[in-house]
Amino acid sequence: MEAIRDIESRSYIDGQWVTGDDGSFEVLNPATGEVIQQVNQVSAAQVQQAIAAARRAFPQWSRRAPLERAQYMKRIAALVRRDAERLARVVVLEQGKTIREARGEVGGTAEFFDYFAEFARRIQGEILPSDFPGEQIWIQRVALGVVGAIIPWNYPSVLVARKVAPSLIAGDTIVLKPHEMTPLSAQEMARIFHEAGVPAGVINIVNGTGKTVGEAITNSPDLDLLTMTGSVPTGKRIMAAAAANLTPVSLELGGKAPFIVMADSDIDLAVRSAATSRYMNCGQVCICNERTLVQRNVYDAFVERFIAVTKQLKVGMPLDESTDIGPKVSRQELDKVDAFVSDAIQLGATVAFGGGRPTNPPSSGGYWYNPTILTGLDLEAPIMHKEIFGPVLPIVPFDTLDEALSIANESRYGLSAYLFTNDMRTIMRAVNEISFGEVYVNRVGPESIQGFHGGYGDSGIGGDDGSHGLDVYLRKKTVYLNYSGAATVPVVPAR
Ligand code: NAD
Repeated sequence: MEAIRDIESRSYIDGQWVTGDDGSFEVLNPATGEVIQQVNQVSAAQVQQAIAAARRAFPQWSRRAPLERAQYMKRIAALVRRDAERLARVVVLEQGKTIREARGEVGGTAEFFDYFAEFARRIQGEILPSDFPGEQIWIQRVALGVVGAIIPWNYPSVLVARKVAPSLIAGDTIVLKPHEMTPLSAQEMARIFHEAGVPAGVINIVNGTGKTVGEAITNSPDLDLLTMTGSVPTGKRIMAAAAANLTPVSLELGGKAPFIVMADSDIDLAVRSAATSRYMNCGQVCICNERTLVQRNVYDAFVERFIAVTKQLKVGMPLDESTDIGPKVSRQELDKVDAFVSDAIQLGATVAFGGGRPTNPPSSGGYWYNPTILTGLDLEAPIMHKEIFGPVLPIVPFDTLDEALSIANESRYGLSAYLFTNDMRTIMRAVNEISFGEVYVNRVGPESIQGFHGGYGDSGIGGDDGSHGLDVYLRKKTVYLNYSGAATVPVVPAR
């Protein structure tokens, strides 16, 4: 635990570490169930102080040249890389993903700052011809103001970067709340922001539960954007709270990705990809393969090989370099996954592999679940429609592409979808007809920084990443400029 003993337990407000006025909460290691840190919780009044600090910092920060803001971001990226191994271990200890995955996450954290720093010279506006001579119309893209950001527990490091990096380059200031189960990575990022010399108030990290600190943020009348990544019910609550103040929202919510395997595809690639996409981060990714649909004439072969690949995966302590699947993040999440499986079995599903908790778990107190494969599913079963978010895969046969697309689109979610085929006509039909914001053809995720990450339906509103994601953090200002020296449109006649 040496790596995390010195992590701050206070919140970072207005450039200082501030002791929370509202008690403290425990952070647990999902691999052991042990308490690894106490973090203190800020009060609603302290949240307002953080928002006020961000508001005060905004005018100066937004007036700096973007290139100057980018220098801070490059420094942050360099510090993340300097501390990468420590940060990766913190991710593992509080969240439970494997150390190999955590290193990837921390690499992505640095890349977000480098990538958005590149926009320093690219936040372009437009010049339009006027309807009158001697005039121009400018559409500028300008900073929004103060951003309120709320993030979940599944990527506690990179999701800080996903919200903070575009805010910084846009010229916005930000108040961010990590998930209460995984605040330590954000604490470490605050340490890095401070060391990088980011001016006081530009980035504030406040800690506490959704009910207290989260609601204090979302109820604030002084935010210019509320960006949240998390579950659908919380997203709806946040949108309702934002409505009271007409605060714009960007919501990155859950998913129920279909993973369609056509008979003509490279079945080995499809099997390995389906396994990666299901089991990464113990199945706790919004774009995870949540339901695999396989064309009937290769169904048995697919299931057989999928079982064989799953059998080779090692469930183990996440700091062990050879581990493939770590624990679930919490007892509550573990029970939720187990309930999905029991319920599916009651509705007639067959456990083709795994099921339940391991009889010889890697540790006694951790939140372990066996990688599990279900067949014989009732298409109406909750497990086919609700987000499992665990290492459990229902595999379903289909006959035609029409049928596969219809099952895939039969979902309230619309974040990501996967298709494995070698037929260009199938690809084009699926791309045209599938109702998901992100389509992966013959490959797994994750998404790329330069793409646009946004879901349809219950998967959210707005989006992150790339130039379209940056737009969420900017607003437009239209300027009608008359440089002719005379009136170009009728005005009150001179007397
Ligand atoms: P969650 O909704 O429980 O919590 C998300 C955040 O909201 C936390 O910080 C929590 O404290 C806060 N919160 C809870 N209640 C609140 C309230 N009333 N007001 C304000 N804030 C409140 O989600 P989770 O369990 O942490 O995350 C898992 C979910 O996140 C999954 O559904 C997953 O698909 C989704 N997710 C989506 C993406 C994406 O990009 N679309 C990425 C990662 C995770």
